[in-house]
Amino acid sequence: MITFASLVPHPPLLIPEIGREHFALLEATVRAYQHLADELYASQPGTVFIISPHATERDRNFTINQSPILRTNFKDFGDLVTNLSFKNDLSLGYKIKESCETSLPLTLVANEVIDYGTAVPLYYLLKNLKETKIVAASVSNLSRHDHVRFGQAVKEIVESSSERIAVIASGDLSHRLHKDSPAGFSVRAQEFDQNIRRLLQENKTAEIINIDESLVREAGECGYRSLLVLLGLIQDFNWQSEELAYQSPFGIGYLTENIILHR
Ligand SMILES: [Zn+2]
Repeated sequence: MITFASLVPHPPLLIPEIGREHFALLEATVRAYQHLADELYASQPGTVFIISPHATERDRNFTINQSPILRTNFKDFGDLVTNLSFKNDLSLGYKIKESCETSLPLTLVANEVIDYGTAVPLYYLLKNLKETKIVAASVSNLSRHDHVRFGQAVKEIVESSSERIAVIASGDLSHRLHKDSPAGFSVRAQEFDQNIRRLLQENKTAEIINIDESLVREAGECGYRSLLVLLGLIQDFNWQSEELAYQSPFGIGYLTENIILHR
């Protein structure tokens, strides 16, 4: 059963060894992560299902990583010190693959080194949960509706399991909020971020799924498809979202949301 759900950002600068002098600018997000880590610990998860937009290179298919051990590696960000490893919940990953077999294209991959979209959230959230296993999935290039359907398929498997399972959607909002943003400035970037925040507060699942395509494109986000999978996972529950932090110190929107599920 699902016992925890959240939407989290993944700037590598959140890793102290990488962030260094920039780390203090992310203080609100760090505090939000610490709060979420406490909530996750209290939910006593056997397994964490995490979905990232950076796990594969623009793959047409969804993927689930079946490497028995999953390791972080932040060398590309100049950090040679932070090294974490996690156990994979291979059987849950395989069950999800089986359940999607005829309905959604999903590939099993085996990458021992996990992407930063997966690694940054796990760095914070699994600090005190060394025995918790992971299922690491990626979004795809398929339609919005397929992402919601993937979430629904995962929900069916997770809810039929006696395991306590946490769900984490990893993704950042617009990358075009400031004139010095990495993807350049867009006047509509703020509109996208504000819409997502408001619609989550108002539980407007359908409105989030149907956000204007041109607005999504203009935003230059990376987290929207992860959010769609999360919405598929939670849409049959009564849920309430609690915004723990929203920051954009580097021109990218970092939103941390705890999703409270009412059974
Ligand atoms: Zn990203």
